Amino acid sequence: MKNHKRAWARIDLSRLEKNINTIKKGISPSTEIMAVVKADAYGHGEKRVLEKLSSIGIQYFAVSNLDEAISVRDVCPDAEILILGYTPPEYADEIAGYNIIQCIVSEEYADELNKKSDKNVRCHIKLDTGMGRIGIKYRDVSECADCVQRISALEKIDVEGIFTHFAVADSDEPDNIAYTDMQAELIKGVYHELEKRGTKLKHVHFLNSAGTGYHFDSTSTLARIGITMYGLYPNYPLELPYKVEPVMELKAVVSHVKTVEVGDCISYGRTYRASESRKIATVTVGYADGYSRLLSSRGQVLCKGVRCSITGRVCMDQMMIDVTDIDVKPGDTVTLIGRDGDDIITADELASWYGTIGYEVVCGISKRVPRIYSDDSENI
Ligand SMILES: *Cc1c(COP(=O)(O)O)cnc(C)c1O
Repeated sequence: MKNHKRAWARIDLSRLEKNINTIKKGISPSTEIMAVVKADAYGHGEKRVLEKLSSIGIQYFAVSNLDEAISVRDVCPDAEILILGYTPPEYADEIAGYNIIQCIVSEEYADELNKKSDKNVRCHIKLDTGMGRIGIKYRDVSECADCVQRISALEKIDVEGIFTHFAVADSDEPDNIAYTDMQAELIKGVYHELEKRGTKLKHVHFLNSAGTGYHFDSTSTLARIGITMYGLYPNYPLELPYKVEPVMELKAVVSHVKTVEVGDCISYGRTYRASESRKIATVTVGYADGYSRLLSSRGQVLCKGVRCSITGRVCMDQMMIDVTDIDVKPGDTVTLIGRDGDDIITADELASWYGTIGYEVVCGISKRVPRIYSDDSENI
């Protein structure tokens, strides 16, 4: 696709590989990486991310729904694909037909799926050990194991594993650390109870990025890695035990430069009014690109390696920045996310300016923004 150099995201797939290698060093060989590629690989572009991950030997993928699972299947004919969320039971035959593993969200759901399917459906049962979102919920190990066995006894349901999701694995507060330990102990208890009863499941998994970084446990057969693979932090600015590098950068260009005088206003609402003579540049990015309007008069960008403030409201397609003291002209590149010279703005830092997380920033970069891959010949 031809890029017209307005606003674009650069995706450095070599960093994705590096991050995977870094994360692998922190886990034991008994735990395989399950790459979480939901939401178009957290906005990085599912197809190219999948091709890269497959080329470096990743075989397990997790997605949020059946549509995503089918599109992963198109790129990776032999991969193991887990749907982390709900799929309406009437799609049972599609799940089976594409050889996808479905998450069992409740005992009733398992019954429905069993009734609606002609073929056997591969499943991992979700346990709600404390996230409070989906999954079967028992505080008693033995009761929970009973339920897993009831579901396993259903004719069309092939239970291959159990899993759970941590709620606060990203926190360093003692109370939250204890909570995460409780969640891990509960699912491990169920797994070992089933083993005692003669059912050895192929998979038990409970590690997300934060769990893998701060609470690694080799009992978990899979580590469901999302955010750290993309080079962001589960809980910025809390450091990870290893260094990952952001895979996505977001760039735009200067379209216009002018000097404003005392009293001149900038953008909708006249929220910015110059208190002295300033040089203002217009930049070709806005909230329709996923650059949040909440960054109005709050965000910063890099231009010629210098941090510049956003002046006034972010518009749909454009915004203004203060470039007083910087030598800029139309056509110059502006870095919204990424490195320029010695400075870097990460999606995590940008998120912190308006009360959200890096996850939401990268997932929110809109379809209008072309993803330019570092190993393509077109290199802007
Ligand atoms: C999204 C998701 C993950 C990945 O979480 P990260 O924090 O990005 O590693 C893992 N497991 C489940 C169930 C998820 O929904």
